[in-house]
Amino acid sequence: MSEQKAIATPKRTREILKKYGFSFKKSLGQNFLIDINILKNIIHNAGITKEINAIEIGPGIGALTEQLAIAANKVVAFEIDGRLVPILEDTLQAYDNVKLINQDILKADFEEVWDRYFQDDKPVKVVANLPYYITTPILMQLLMANLPISSITVMIQKEVAERMAAAENTKEYGSLSIAIQYYTEAKVKMVVPKTVFMPQPRVDSAVLHLEKRTTPPVDVEDEKFFFQLVQASFQQRRKTLRNNLSRHFKDILSKDQIEEGFDRVGIDGTRRGESLNIQEFATLANYYEQYVKETS
Ligand code: SAM
Repeated sequence: MSEQKAIATPKRTREILKKYGFSFKKSLGQNFLIDINILKNIIHNAGITKEINAIEIGPGIGALTEQLAIAANKVVAFEIDGRLVPILEDTLQAYDNVKLINQDILKADFEEVWDRYFQDDKPVKVVANLPYYITTPILMQLLMANLPISSITVMIQKEVAERMAAAENTKEYGSLSIAIQYYTEAKVKMVVPKTVFMPQPRVDSAVLHLEKRTTPPVDVEDEKFFFQLVQASFQQRRKTLRNNLSRHFKDILSKDQIEEGFDRVGIDGTRRGESLNIQEFATLANYYEQYVKETS
């Protein structure tokens, strides 16, 4: 298909919207991409080839889906808005390697998706221009479900991308950075201006690439406790670890026991959460978790 006919141009997008009398639903984060170069860049950064199967979240009128269909082996796209189904059936009719599922991605049955569509053993990558109102729940669901995906490449709000990819001792670093780091290696690939969307969002955007790790970078005895401790450490950013942890764990650990933990693992309790790396969080969590297990 020639580039002039691509869905992702202002002219073609306007034509499609007009033909179907489509009105954007802000509540569904509908900001469609109208720049073919940005789409090609996303596909390139995701490493999509004919040897790759892709999952897309929120195809809209098919701007990214079309480029994925051209570049990938197969595309499975989840779209929550039923009004877009007849539009996508029209705009993507030239591609027989796209399967559209009219469903909320948060309710997806991934086991069935793999059984039905991904039996060819090709690596599966997630690529999407995400609806910004649920970026974090979607990404955390995909990561925690431990799906056999090799990477996730997504357009998201710039600030959120920076928080996800942040290193310690930066103001963007927080529990989200640690969660992402636990499951993936994260990189912000490019910052994207508002002008490439229709309608234009109020915030700046960025493309984030998450390469899934085969094993976590640290040994954690109890993931739930680890993430609880990480979150507690950032509860009040300006407060010390000592303060945040004794407040959060007051029902299971006394102040003295919290203090003993700092001594045992060699971490100064007057430090702030933002100064700890993932290894230090893991060491601290493993110590307290073991202590609570032994004494309860
Ligand atoms: N991929 C298209 C593009 O780049 O032009 C549209 C991207 S738009 C930012 C987000 C899309 O996600 C919309 O089509 C919206 O209807 C859809 N969406 C919103 N919430 C969803 C959900 N929970 N599950 C699946 N799709 C969703």
